[in-house]
Amino acid sequence: MKLIRYDGGRIGVTDGVRVADVTRHCGVGEDWPPVAMNRLIRNFETLRPVLEAALGEGDTVPFDRVFLETPVPWPNKLLAFPVNYHDHAAEMATTGLADVQGFFLKANSSLSGASEPIVLPDLPGRSVHHECELGVIIGKAGRQIPVETALDHVFGYACLIDVTVRGREERVMRKSYDTFTPVGPWIVTADEVGDPSALEMRLWVGDELRQHANTRDLIVSLPEMIAVASSAATLQPGDVIATGTPAGVGPIADGDVVRIEIERVGSMSVRVEQGALGRNPVFAKPYEFKRAVVAGGRA
Ligand code: MN
Repeated sequence: MKLIRYDGGRIGVTDGVRVADVTRHCGVGEDWPPVAMNRLIRNFETLRPVLEAALGEGDTVPFDRVFLETPVPWPNKLLAFPVNYHDHAAEMATTGLADVQGFFLKANSSLSGASEPIVLPDLPGRSVHHECELGVIIGKAGRQIPVETALDHVFGYACLIDVTVRGREERVMRKSYDTFTPVGPWIVTADEVGDPSALEMRLWVGDELRQHANTRDLIVSLPEMIAVASSAATLQPGDVIATGTPAGVGPIADGDVVRIEIERVGSMSVRVEQGALGRNPVFAKPYEFKRAVVAGGRA
Protein backbone atom coordinates (compact mmCIF):
# COMPACT_ATOMS: atom_id res chain seq x y z
CA MET A 1 0.00 0.00 0.00
CA LYS A 2 1.13 3.53 -0.77
CA LEU A 3 0.18 6.26 1.70
CA ILE A 4 0.53 9.97 1.14
CA ARG A 5 0.03 13.19 3.05
CA TYR A 6 -1.20 15.97 0.81
CA ASP A 7 -3.14 19.22 0.29
CA GLY A 8 -2.75 20.61 3.80
CA GLY A 9 -2.41 17.48 5.90
CA ARG A 10 -4.93 15.14 4.27
CA ILE A 11 -4.07 11.44 4.35
CA GLY A 12 -4.48 9.45 1.15
CA VAL A 13 -4.08 5.97 -0.28
CA THR A 14 -2.73 5.95 -3.83
CA ASP A 15 -1.80 3.58 -6.63
CA GLY A 16 0.32 6.30 -8.22
CA VAL A 17 -2.52 7.27 -10.57
CA ARG A 18 -5.46 8.01 -8.27
CA VAL A 19 -5.75 9.15 -4.66
CA ALA A 20 -8.50 8.16 -2.22
CA ASP A 21 -8.92 10.48 0.76
CA VAL A 22 -8.86 8.43 3.98
CA THR A 23 -8.36 11.34 6.39
CA ARG A 24 -11.65 10.64 8.17
CA HIS A 25 -10.46 7.14 9.10
CA CYS A 26 -7.28 8.34 10.78
CA GLY A 27 -8.65 9.45 14.10
CA VAL A 28 -7.54 13.06 14.13
CA GLY A 29 -7.83 16.07 11.91
CA GLU A 30 -4.80 18.03 10.92
CA ASP A 31 -4.60 20.11 14.04
CA TRP A 32 -1.36 20.90 15.84
CA PRO A 33 0.86 18.98 16.20
CA PRO A 34 0.26 17.10 12.92
CA VAL A 35 0.39 13.49 14.07
CA ALA A 36 -2.37 11.85 12.00
CA MET A 37 0.14 9.69 10.12
CA ASN A 38 1.85 8.60 13.36
CA ARG A 39 -1.54 7.39 14.60
CA LEU A 40 -2.35 5.68 11.30
CA ILE A 41 0.99 3.84 11.47
CA ARG A 42 0.45 2.77 15.08
CA ASN A 43 -3.10 1.56 14.32
CA PHE A 44 -2.35 0.22 10.86
CA GLU A 45 -3.39 -3.39 11.35
CA THR A 46 -6.82 -2.27 12.56
CA LEU A 47 -7.21 0.31 9.80
CA ARG A 48 -5.79 -1.86 7.03
CA PRO A 49 -9.07 -3.31 5.63
CA VAL A 50 -10.65 0.14 5.36
CA LEU A 51 -7.53 1.63 3.77
CA GLU A 52 -7.18 -1.25 1.32
CA ALA A 53 -10.75 -0.82 0.16
CA ALA A 54 -10.51 2.95 -0.24
CA LEU A 55 -9.34 3.04 -3.87
CA GLY A 56 -12.15 0.73 -4.92
CA GLU A 57 -14.99 2.81 -3.54
CA GLY A 58 -15.98 6.46 -3.57
CA ASP A 59 -14.31 9.44 -5.16
CA THR A 60 -10.68 9.70 -6.14
CA VAL A 61 -8.55 12.55 -7.41
CA PRO A 62 -5.66 12.25 -9.89
CA PHE A 63 -2.30 11.69 -8.19
CA ASP A 64 -0.59 14.28 -10.35
CA ARG A 65 -3.00 17.00 -9.16
CA VAL A 66 -2.29 16.75 -5.45
CA PHE A 67 0.35 18.69 -3.49
CA LEU A 68 2.57 16.10 -1.81
CA GLU A 69 3.72 16.92 1.69
CA THR A 70 6.15 14.97 3.82
CA PRO A 71 4.47 11.74 4.95
CA VAL A 72 5.40 11.99 8.65
CA PRO A 73 5.89 15.67 9.54
CA TRP A 74 6.11 15.17 13.30
CA PRO A 75 8.13 12.02 14.03
CA ASN A 76 9.50 11.45 17.49
CA LYS A 77 12.94 11.21 15.83
CA LEU A 78 14.64 11.72 12.48
CA LEU A 79 17.74 9.53 12.72
CA ALA A 80 20.52 9.38 10.17
CA PHE A 81 23.53 7.16 9.61
CA PRO A 82 26.71 8.86 8.36
CA VAL A 83 29.19 7.40 5.87
CA ASN A 84 27.41 4.11 5.36
CA TYR A 85 28.83 3.25 1.91
CA HIS A 86 32.55 2.62 1.36
CA ASP A 87 32.66 4.61 -1.90
CA HIS A 88 31.28 7.70 -0.12
CA ALA A 89 33.86 7.24 2.65
CA ALA A 90 36.51 7.25 -0.06
CA GLU A 91 35.28 10.44 -1.75
CA MET A 92 35.08 12.18 1.65
CA ALA A 93 38.52 10.80 2.64
CA THR A 94 37.15 9.75 6.01
CA THR A 95 37.61 6.68 8.15
CA GLY A 96 34.66 7.56 10.38
CA LEU A 97 32.34 4.91 9.04
CA ALA A 98 28.80 4.29 10.26
CA ASP A 99 29.78 1.04 11.98
CA VAL A 100 31.90 2.93 14.52
CA GLN A 101 30.05 6.27 14.52
CA GLY A 102 26.45 5.26 15.13
CA PHE A 103 23.63 7.63 14.23
CA PHE A 104 23.12 11.37 14.42
CA LEU A 105 19.89 13.35 14.44
CA LYS A 106 18.51 15.91 12.00
CA ALA A 107 15.90 18.45 13.09
CA ASN A 108 12.44 16.99 12.45
CA SER A 109 11.52 20.41 11.04
CA SER A 110 13.88 19.79 8.11
CA LEU A 111 11.34 17.32 6.64
CA SER A 112 9.57 18.36 3.45
CA GLY A 113 7.55 16.69 0.72
CA ALA A 114 7.87 15.86 -2.97
CA SER A 115 5.89 18.90 -4.13
CA GLU A 116 7.86 21.31 -1.97
CA PRO A 117 11.12 22.90 -3.09
CA ILE A 118 14.48 22.50 -1.42
CA VAL A 119 15.11 26.09 -0.32
CA LEU A 120 18.81 26.91 -0.34
CA PRO A 121 19.98 29.08 2.55
CA ASP A 122 21.71 32.36 1.83
CA LEU A 123 25.25 31.20 2.55
CA PRO A 124 27.83 32.76 0.24
CA GLY A 125 30.94 30.63 -0.06
CA ARG A 126 29.18 27.42 0.89
CA SER A 127 27.93 24.58 -1.28
CA VAL A 128 24.80 22.62 -0.49
CA HIS A 129 24.89 18.95 -1.51
CA HIS A 130 22.35 16.24 -2.27
CA GLU A 131 22.65 12.81 -0.63
CA CYS A 132 20.57 9.98 -2.13
CA GLU A 133 19.21 7.75 0.64
CA LEU A 134 16.66 5.06 1.36
CA GLY A 135 14.26 6.37 4.00
CA VAL A 136 12.86 3.91 6.53
CA ILE A 137 9.70 4.56 8.54
CA ILE A 138 9.36 2.66 11.81
CA GLY A 139 6.05 0.93 12.50
CA LYS A 140 6.41 -0.86 15.81
CA ALA A 141 7.99 0.62 18.92
CA GLY A 142 10.97 -1.10 20.47
CA ARG A 143 14.13 -0.81 22.57
CA GLN A 144 17.23 -2.98 22.14
CA ILE A 145 15.68 -4.64 19.11
CA PRO A 146 17.63 -7.74 17.99
CA VAL A 147 19.01 -7.79 14.46
CA GLU A 148 17.05 -10.98 13.76
CA THR A 149 13.64 -9.34 14.27
CA ALA A 150 14.54 -5.75 13.34
CA LEU A 151 12.69 -5.73 10.02
CA ASP A 152 9.45 -6.55 11.87
CA HIS A 153 9.66 -2.99 13.20
CA VAL A 154 9.69 -1.40 9.73
CA PHE A 155 6.40 0.11 8.58
CA GLY A 156 7.58 1.17 5.16
CA TYR A 157 10.03 2.95 2.92
CA ALA A 158 10.39 6.22 1.04
CA CYS A 159 12.86 8.12 -1.08
CA LEU A 160 14.87 10.52 1.08
CA ILE A 161 17.30 13.28 0.15
CA ASP A 162 19.67 14.25 2.97
CA VAL A 163 20.55 17.83 2.01
CA THR A 164 23.75 19.11 3.57
CA VAL A 165 25.76 22.32 3.85
CA ARG A 166 29.37 21.24 3.34
CA GLY A 167 31.82 22.34 6.00
CA ARG A 168 33.43 21.24 9.23
CA GLU A 169 30.87 22.68 11.62
CA GLU A 170 28.40 20.62 13.66
CA ARG A 171 26.77 18.14 11.31
CA VAL A 172 23.37 18.50 12.96
CA MET A 173 23.21 22.20 12.11
CA ARG A 174 24.57 21.76 8.59
CA LYS A 175 21.80 19.26 7.86
CA SER A 176 18.89 20.85 9.74
CA TYR A 177 17.82 23.76 7.56
CA ASP A 178 14.11 23.76 6.71
CA THR A 179 13.41 21.64 3.57
CA PHE A 180 16.74 19.76 3.94
CA THR A 181 15.03 16.35 4.22
CA PRO A 182 12.61 15.78 1.34
CA VAL A 183 10.80 12.46 1.88
CA GLY A 184 8.36 10.88 -0.53
CA PRO A 185 6.57 10.71 -2.78
CA TRP A 186 4.74 8.29 -0.47
CA ILE A 187 5.40 5.68 2.16
CA VAL A 188 5.25 2.27 0.54
CA THR A 189 4.49 -0.40 3.12
CA ALA A 190 7.20 -2.96 3.82
CA ASP A 191 5.17 -5.89 2.43
CA GLU A 192 5.21 -4.28 -1.05
CA VAL A 193 9.00 -3.85 -0.99
CA GLY A 194 9.98 -7.23 0.39
CA ASP A 195 13.69 -7.72 1.01
CA PRO A 196 15.30 -4.24 1.33
CA SER A 197 18.86 -5.53 1.15
CA ALA A 198 19.37 -5.19 -2.62
CA LEU A 199 17.51 -2.11 -3.87
CA GLU A 200 18.88 -0.09 -6.76
CA MET A 201 18.92 3.66 -6.12
CA ARG A 202 19.69 6.57 -8.40
CA LEU A 203 19.78 10.35 -8.14
CA TRP A 204 19.93 12.85 -10.98
CA VAL A 205 20.37 16.62 -11.01
CA GLY A 206 18.67 17.66 -14.24
CA ASP A 207 19.75 15.06 -16.82
CA GLU A 208 23.00 14.23 -15.04
CA LEU A 209 23.11 10.95 -13.13
CA ARG A 210 25.03 11.85 -9.98
CA GLN A 211 24.51 8.82 -7.73
CA HIS A 212 23.87 5.16 -8.53
CA ALA A 213 24.18 2.47 -5.91
CA ASN A 214 22.52 -0.53 -4.34
CA THR A 215 21.56 -1.09 -0.71
CA ARG A 216 23.55 -4.33 -0.79
CA ASP A 217 26.63 -2.09 -0.43
CA LEU A 218 25.55 -0.59 2.89
CA ILE A 219 28.28 -0.90 5.54
CA VAL A 220 25.72 -1.16 8.36
CA SER A 221 22.70 -3.08 7.12
CA LEU A 222 19.16 -1.94 7.78
CA PRO A 223 18.53 -4.55 10.53
CA GLU A 224 21.83 -3.55 12.15
CA MET A 225 20.87 0.15 12.01
CA ILE A 226 17.59 -0.57 13.78
CA ALA A 227 19.39 -2.66 16.40
CA VAL A 228 22.03 0.02 17.02
CA ALA A 229 19.58 2.93 17.08
CA SER A 230 17.20 1.14 19.44
CA SER A 231 20.02 0.18 21.79
CA ALA A 232 20.15 3.86 22.74
CA ALA A 233 16.68 5.24 22.03
CA THR A 234 13.25 3.64 22.02
CA LEU A 235 12.05 3.69 18.43
CA GLN A 236 8.49 4.93 17.97
CA PRO A 237 5.89 4.49 15.21
CA GLY A 238 6.62 7.15 12.59
CA ASP A 239 10.31 7.54 13.37
CA VAL A 240 12.29 8.13 10.18
CA ILE A 241 15.76 6.75 9.48
CA ALA A 242 18.02 8.15 6.75
CA THR A 243 20.20 5.17 5.92
CA GLY A 244 23.22 6.92 4.40
CA THR A 245 24.49 8.07 1.05
CA PRO A 246 26.65 6.36 -1.55
CA ALA A 247 29.32 8.25 -3.52
CA GLY A 248 28.53 11.02 -5.97
CA VAL A 249 27.35 13.76 -3.63
CA GLY A 250 27.47 17.15 -5.28
CA PRO A 251 26.18 20.71 -5.29
CA ILE A 252 22.65 21.84 -6.08
CA ALA A 253 21.71 25.32 -7.24
CA ASP A 254 18.72 27.57 -7.81
CA GLY A 255 16.59 26.17 -10.65
CA ASP A 256 17.87 22.60 -10.44
CA VAL A 257 15.50 19.64 -10.33
CA VAL A 258 16.71 16.71 -8.22
CA ARG A 259 15.20 13.34 -9.11
CA ILE A 260 15.58 10.33 -6.82
CA GLU A 261 14.45 6.83 -7.72
CA ILE A 262 14.60 3.69 -5.58
CA GLU A 263 13.65 0.25 -6.85
CA ARG A 264 10.22 -0.94 -5.62
CA VAL A 265 9.93 2.21 -3.48
CA GLY A 266 9.22 5.00 -5.95
CA SER A 267 10.61 8.21 -7.37
CA MET A 268 10.19 11.94 -6.91
CA SER A 269 11.49 15.12 -8.51
CA VAL A 270 12.14 18.06 -6.23
CA ARG A 271 12.80 21.64 -7.31
CA VAL A 272 15.63 23.69 -5.85
CA GLU A 273 15.24 27.40 -5.21
CA GLN A 274 17.37 30.04 -3.62
CA GLY A 275 15.98 31.43 -0.38
CA ALA A 276 16.69 34.69 1.41
CA LEU A 277 17.10 33.33 4.94
CA GLY A 278 19.77 31.28 6.66
CA ARG A 279 22.82 33.45 7.23
CA ASN A 280 24.62 33.19 10.54
CA PRO A 281 28.13 33.68 11.96
CA VAL A 282 28.75 29.91 12.10
CA PHE A 283 28.87 29.57 8.32
CA ALA A 284 30.45 32.98 7.65
CA LYS A 285 33.76 31.49 6.56
CA PRO A 286 33.80 30.04 3.04
CA TYR A 287 34.46 26.30 2.72
CA GLU A 288 35.64 24.60 -0.41
CA PHE A 289 34.55 20.98 -0.81
CA LYS A 290 37.27 18.87 -2.37
CA ARG A 291 36.32 15.40 -3.44
CA ALA A 292 39.08 12.93 -2.67
CA VAL A 293 40.50 11.11 -5.68
CA VAL A 294 39.17 7.57 -5.64
CA ALA A 295 41.08 4.90 -7.53
CA GLY A 296 38.75 3.40 -10.09
CA GLY A 297 35.86 5.48 -8.80
CA ARG A 298 33.77 8.22 -10.31
CA ALA A 299 35.63 10.94 -8.41
MN1 MN B 1 23.39 11.41 4.69
